[in-house]
Parts: sequence; structure tokens; C-alpha cells
Amino acid sequence: MHEPRRRTVSKRSPVDGALLCEVPVASPDDVAAAVARARGAADAWAALGVAGRLRALAPLRDRIAATREALAETISRDTGKPKFDSLLTEVSAVPLFLDYYTRVAPKVLGVHRTRTPLMFLPHASHVQRFPMGVIAVISPWNFPFRLSVVPMLTALIAGNTVVLKPSEVTPLVGEAIREMFAAVGLPEGVVEVVQGDGETGAALCRADVDKIFFTGSVATGKKVMAVAAEKPIPVELELGGKDAMIVCADADLQRAANAAAWGGLVNAGQMCTSVERVLVVDSVHDDFVRLLGERVAALRVGGPHVDADMGPLTFERQLATVERHVADAVERGARVVCGGRRIDELGEQFYAPTVLVDVTPEMEIYREETFGPVLPVVRVRDEEEAVRLANDHQYGLTGSVWTRDRARGLRLASRVAAGQVCVNDVVISVGNFALPFGGIKGSGFGRYHGVDGLLAFSHTKAIMSARWAPPTEPFWFPYRGKYSELGRLVDSLLARNLVGALASKLRLRPSDEET
Ligand code: NAD
Repeated sequence: MHEPRRRTVSKRSPVDGALLCEVPVASPDDVAAAVARARGAADAWAALGVAGRLRALAPLRDRIAATREALAETISRDTGKPKFDSLLTEVSAVPLFLDYYTRVAPKVLGVHRTRTPLMFLPHASHVQRFPMGVIAVISPWNFPFRLSVVPMLTALIAGNTVVLKPSEVTPLVGEAIREMFAAVGLPEGVVEVVQGDGETGAALCRADVDKIFFTGSVATGKKVMAVAAEKPIPVELELGGKDAMIVCADADLQRAANAAAWGGLVNAGQMCTSVERVLVVDSVHDDFVRLLGERVAALRVGGPHVDADMGPLTFERQLATVERHVADAVERGARVVCGGRRIDELGEQFYAPTVLVDVTPEMEIYREETFGPVLPVVRVRDEEEAVRLANDHQYGLTGSVWTRDRARGLRLASRVAAGQVCVNDVVISVGNFALPFGGIKGSGFGRYHGVDGLLAFSHTKAIMSARWAPPTEPFWFPYRGKYSELGRLVDSLLARNLVGALASKLRLRPSDEET
């Protein structure tokens, strides 16, 4: 008898279409077995304590040091992005992350004493965190290393074991992550990787996991949440974005234009935090567009083997979205300043870095996430209109404000409805692991990075302990005769009369005349 043939996903180079690998897809049974191994390892991993877990993960530094070139190469082969981007935005996340959490995790995950009201005089109160168990991490293809490894490490440090389902679009990186964790000698089951597509992800959501951390599209996020709701288990959704960049009349226009070019086109615009709407105040609009057009037209496009600024689109399906959005915009009156076409001479998945002007909110390119190398510029009357447009949108992940008056920039930033906002910079806040990251509205919910990351991957336990036994139990049975003194205690608390409250509490026992 022949075993049924395993399903595979095949990976083709985004640069030249060559077949890079065929990866066997994990079946629902394989997924369940991986989750069972993770479950089996969970107690011992949690019992190591945060210091023990940080010690166990510390060898990742040496591993990254020894393999960073190979990792950057693999990420670039799988995605097509420049090796500079692979090293800067993906590999460098690990040392930055470990430095930050090695310093803060012991404190955040420790026991914290908290206030106890006078009413509960003999008691002490504490709050502590404890691990959730097994975490499912489901990641996308655009930053396949970082968006897998950062939530995995956060969950691990918080005391959980992890099952990763990397994107089927970037299986080489999935294997590299598996090898990286295997090489540092973690106990079996602490990290599991199941390769496969949407079916594998769905099987992982249905398996015996305690939380799902999902990064990807809104459509898939809804399905993931529906499965989590059945159980119910917590779910965190890190979804799409439509970053608004607000350029005020007093902005440093050259720097703002350079920032828009990088923030909108890094990783060929396939970034949830990409600049996807540039809202420019009328009085500086034309100068800004000239500077932006010059910068973008000078960009070098090519595969990772040449020292290019921008690579191909990683996922061929993105190309269709980009072309549809540009065509719709042009049909409705937008003008192409540069780009606006495929670059067939480089390969099938290359699209020229593009600047569009006269973009309006009715256009698809304004309303939907494009996730491609296009910068739509919108002319606005003033900053008020810019803030209104920035916020009047289904997404709310990131944004930026550009002005020479930093105080005004901070005021405007506080009015932008998004999870992270930069003033006079773009995207950079995602790189600071001390800052919480996550979106609102259609961009999802939940936060990771920073202290919030550790909180997202642990439960809270509140503990109240009696330090001594009071001579009588003022709030327990029998109630007879205690009612009027309880009334006086409540009145004293309302009047913030602590001495009176203490006296009432001490008298809260059946009185002679009431018995
Ligand atoms: P996607 O939703 O197609 O896939 C994401 C992951 O979910 C993949 O691993 C996929 O195999 C898996 N999956 C598919 N169907 C599933 C199901 N039914 N159940 C469970 N898992 C399933 O998204 P994508 O195309 O890989 O990524 C692009 C999207 O991700 C964009 O919208 C982008 O904005 C968003 N994104 C968000 C962030 C963020 O941090 N907010 C970061 C990067 C990308």
C-alpha cells in the first residue's frame, strides 16, 4: 500500500521565477502532534523562571553573530528584498529585542505589591504574571523573520512554549527559523515550526493552543478570531494599515520627501507600516511633489544580488492589486509623476517605484491597503483637513507628522487615530522595542513590543493574603448587630475620614445593645 502523497508548497524566486524549494505541508495530525509536544514541554519551560529562560535564549546572540550573513541571504532569496533591508529590518531585531527584554522582563514578570484599602486592614495584596501555556504564532511573508521571531521570543520569555506557522510564501525563512532555534539547544517541544498554507494555519487555530497571535490580512484575521471565539481563547490581531503622513506648511520639505520615499517604498511598499497616504498642505504641495518625484525617480530597482534600493514584489498576487489601484486612480483623475508600470526587463514581479498626485478619497488606492511601491499624494487645505482625513479611515496602525515646530507636531500626533505616530520621522518607532506596537479599527487590536508584549503573553494573577487573623471577622457571619457600624464605616470612607473608618472597622462586631 502506498501512503497518500504529502501536499507540498513550492517556492519560486521572486526575482527570476526559478523553483527554490518544495516544502511538505504539515497535516492536521502533524499540527496536533507539534502542539502536543509544545504542551508537554510547557510546565518545565515555565518552571525555569524568567532568569532561566533568558539564559536558555542567550545563545541566540552568538547564533545570529555566526549566521547573520546566511540569514540575510535566505530572507532576501525568499522575499526578493535588498540584503540591506534583511539585515536592518529583520535580523537586527533579535539583538535589539534581547537587549531590551533582558533588562525589563525580570521586573515586569516579577511579583508586584499593590495597595490594600484600609477596610481590609490585616491584608497584603500582590499581582503576579503567569504563562498562558502554548502560543500559536501565525505570521505573514513581508517580514517573515522578524514578524515570526519577535512574537515567538516574547511568548517564550513570558514562559510559554510556541508553535509557529510561517507563511507559505516564504518557507525558506520558516526553515531558517526552525534551524536557528534548534541550534541553541532548547528542550524538545519549546519551539515547534509547522510549515504549510491557510489550511495548516486553520488546523493550528483549532488545535489545543491557549492563545493565537496572528499577523496578516483582515480577511484571515476575522477567520482566526471566529475559531478563537468558539473555544474561547484570547487572540491578538496585527492586521493591515494605511499610514497617513501629514506634511505641514513649515515642514523641512527635502527631509519629508526623502522620508516619504523610504517609508513608502522600503520593502517595495509591502509593509503594514508603509506610508500609503501622503497628505500635503496646499501651500507646499507642488514643491514637495517635485522633491519626492526626483528622489523616487533616482531609486535603483533590482534583485538582492545587485546593490539595489528596492526589489521585486515578493508575492505575485500583490502585483495585481497594485496595478488595479493605479489604474482606478488614473481613471478617476490621478496623475502619475513617476513609475506607474511593471519593469518587465527586470523580471515578472518588478514594479517601478511610483508617485501619484491628485489622489482623492473616492479612489481605491486611498481606501484600500495597496501593499506595493506606490506613494499616493493628496492635496489638503490645511493641517485640520489633514488630521480629519487621516482619521476618517478604516485603518489605524501608524502615521507621521512633519513640521519644524516639534511641540505642534506632538500636539497633532496626539490627535492622529493610530497605534504609533512619529514626528519628523517615519516607521522608526517600530524599531524601538520599548514602545508598544499594534493598531486600532481595521488594523486589529492588542499590543506587543515593550512591557505590553510581556503582558500580552501572560495572565495576571491577583493574590491577597491575610498577614494576621483579626480578633473578630468583621465581614463574615453572623451579620446580626453589625449593620449600623458598617454604615458608619461606609460614611467615613466616603468622607475620606480614615481615622473614623478605622474606628468603625474595629467596632464592627455584634454590639451589646443590638444583640
Ligand atoms: P494572510 O492573511 O494571507 O496570511 C497570513 C498568515 O495566515 C499566513 O501564514 C497564512 O498561511 C495564514 N492563514 C491563511 N488562512 C488562514 C486561516 N484560515 N487560518 C489561520 N491561518 C491562515 O496575510 P499575508 O498576505 O501573509 O500578509 C499581508 C497582510 O498582513 C497585509 O494586510 C499586511 O498589512 C498585514 N501585516 C500586518 C502587520 C502588523 O504588524 N499589523 C505586519 C505585517 C503584515
